Amino acid sequence: MKADVLIVGTGIGGLYTALNLREDLNILVMTNSKIRDCNSYLAQGGITTVMPGDEKSFIEDTLAAGHNKNDTETLNMVARESWGNIKDLIKLGTEFQKDEYGNLKFTKEAAHSKGRILFHGSETGKMIMETLIKNIEKRKNITVLEGSELLDLKISENNVHGGIFKKNEKRFSVDSKVVVLATGGIGGLFKNSTNQPNIKGVALALAKKHHLKIKDVEYIQLHPTALDNQNKNRLFLLSEALRGEGAVIRDSSGERFVDELLPRDRVTEAIINKKKDSMECVYLDATALDSNYIRERFSGIYTECFERGYDITSDLLPISPAQHYFMGGIKTTLSGRSSCRNLYVVGEAACTGLHGKNRLASNSLLEAVVFGKSAAKDINLHIDSVNLIEKLIIEDEWCPEEAARKIIIKHRGDLTNELHHN
Ligand SMILES: Cc1cc2nc3c(=O)[nH]c(=O)nc-3n(C[C@H](O)[C@H](O)[C@H](O)COP(=O)(O)OP(=O)(O)OC[C@H]3O[C@@H](n4cnc5c(N)ncnc54)[C@H](O)[C@@H]3O)c2cc1C
Repeated sequence: MKADVLIVGTGIGGLYTALNLREDLNILVMTNSKIRDCNSYLAQGGITTVMPGDEKSFIEDTLAAGHNKNDTETLNMVARESWGNIKDLIKLGTEFQKDEYGNLKFTKEAAHSKGRILFHGSETGKMIMETLIKNIEKRKNITVLEGSELLDLKISENNVHGGIFKKNEKRFSVDSKVVVLATGGIGGLFKNSTNQPNIKGVALALAKKHHLKIKDVEYIQLHPTALDNQNKNRLFLLSEALRGEGAVIRDSSGERFVDELLPRDRVTEAIINKKKDSMECVYLDATALDSNYIRERFSGIYTECFERGYDITSDLLPISPAQHYFMGGIKTTLSGRSSCRNLYVVGEAACTGLHGKNRLASNSLLEAVVFGKSAAKDINLHIDSVNLIEKLIIEDEWCPEEAARKIIIKHRGDLTNELHHN
């Protein structure tokens, strides 16, 4: 198979990148499962929205959660690009919650110092993903291939030119000018995780195999409040937004023992210590909140818990920390480039440095769209130089100065920077 751009992963990172690529490019998007079997679809809390004027406070909150290990350039870029991307999601058809006057309604999740999260009930990921899928289906230049597992990347002389896949036990190869890895995190490797089991850190494994630069691989986030009710695939998450709305954490004697609005790692640590000390159960308690409001605001969580035997408006919910997010990954630039030529990485598979040591709630979907667009812009500009250089090589005319002269004349300097890179 052949494509101009091969994207691996159908989460928000993969699909949003695809939609921002030029419509004259032939794009192939692959997933090892069904298009909806990704962590993006499960996102409950929402997406951070940095409105003009809020940049400084957003950066301070993200740095505090990340123990100041975050990358400042990345923070500035994400703060700057957030609102434009959220507007694009809305233009594509995403519906976020509105107040009674029709204005966007912002909620606060624990550890954000103010309400800056846009949401859709407790099914924000599903809303965004369904919107992206609808738009993908309208685009004739984008083909999605399900059930195709990436096994390896085709890399020679530090230049990627496709991937090797397996579908129904058969192997096949895809040639492409550019590859975008959007294969998510590592949760499928853990016994207790909130993640989809088909997401098992393939990007990291291939990075190691092909000697790509990786970063912060020791930073793995545990979410403090997964429902401690065994499910053979994954643990069900009780969103941080519940605590943002006033739910509290209690031990088995009903005492509160931690400030519920602290960042995730600190709440997790307190729960683990509590369980270690006394081997006791720990509970999330949302019973003091207005039950009608909770049923409506968290309808997805309400229904899922009800099916597992808990009414969140009247029952204490047994909780346990579980693996939730991977802050590390393949090191990327502000344009989503990895250390291998023509290989981009977006979403949870990438380490952009946004999260530092610990991700602040709702910053992951935002990171995926900001870097998805930035990678797509870079590819839109760069791919012609890949085409041209390839053509010159094929015609056996290859001579770097001559190639550079031809490309510059053809593209009037737009690609001068790209040539330097190449
Ligand atoms: C329960 C839950 C709730 C969350 N809530 C929020 C929230 O409210 N706000 C927020 O910002 N973040 C949230 N997150 C985190 C966020 O959802 C993810 O970090 C983000 O969606 C990752 O997007 P992605 O596109 O990088 O990857 P994913 O959405 O995880 O998609 C990965 C894709 O790669 C494919 N894939 C993986 N391996 C292979 C392979 N070998 N071959 C082919 N395809 C492969 C998968 O099938 C999938 O299509 C939540 C996460 C979970 C698990």
